[in-house]
Amino acid sequence: MSESNRLRIAIQKSGRLSKESQKLLKGCGVKFTVNEQRLIAPSDNMPIDLLRVRDDDIPGLIMDGVVDLGIIGENVLEEEQIERQDTGKPAQYKKLRELDFGGCRLSLAVPNEFKYDNANSLEGLRIATSYPNLLRRYMKQQNINYSDCMLKGSVEVAPRAGLADGICDLVSTGATLEANGLYETDVIYRSKACLIQSTTEQSPSKQALINKLISRMNGVITARE
Ligand code: ATP
Ligand code: ZN
Repeated sequence: MSESNRLRIAIQKSGRLSKESQKLLKGCGVKFTVNEQRLIAPSDNMPIDLLRVRDDDIPGLIMDGVVDLGIIGENVLEEEQIERQDTGKPAQYKKLRELDFGGCRLSLAVPNEFKYDNANSLEGLRIATSYPNLLRRYMKQQNINYSDCMLKGSVEVAPRAGLADGICDLVSTGATLEANGLYETDVIYRSKACLIQSTTEQSPSKQALINKLISRMNGVITARE
């Protein structure tokens, strides 16, 4: 693979982080047009290519040094880092800054009729989640035995469908939990979007561009506080 002299920034293609990620980069003066059919959106005024991918792919692209920068939820980043550390794959990255969007929490929730006193009430339950590593870390800290049911989507319907006793899922307002007859018991991870960089050494010109972007981003975020 040839080393590109253009800065590669991975952002979520479509989902909860994509609009805000694009808005932030535009606010930093990066001009680009997104073609929904295209993976790459090249900037017209800076040597930057935006790579529009599934959010789950962003941590790995950074940790493998395939892209230079990424905008990603800390929850997805941390989940991938635990996975890679456990399997001996490269798991390094630099967090450049936390961003002012994508706020949510990864929480445990159980059906309304379930009687919960404390974390020990979860002993022996089957828990549906898309975040098995973060869940395992928390349950280990709490010394609770459980089994998991890995679901990439529709986690919140798993208890009603008889697939699990409880769930471990992302929550922002709690409306989805409520709509599914569940209530939150333990917050296991608080997350926001963040800007990350690969640990690959950058050419001086690319690093200068990264520094310029960070300084503009600080200005944009401070201005909207
Ligand atoms: P993709 O198709 O890219 O895999 P996805 O369905 O996994 O998308 P989204 O639902 O778009 O992901 O969420 C992306 C990120 O937005 C989450 O990982 C999280 O960091 C953040 N987020 C903020 N609030 C919420 C919420 N209420 N529910 C889910 N994610 C949230
Ligand atoms: Zn995803």
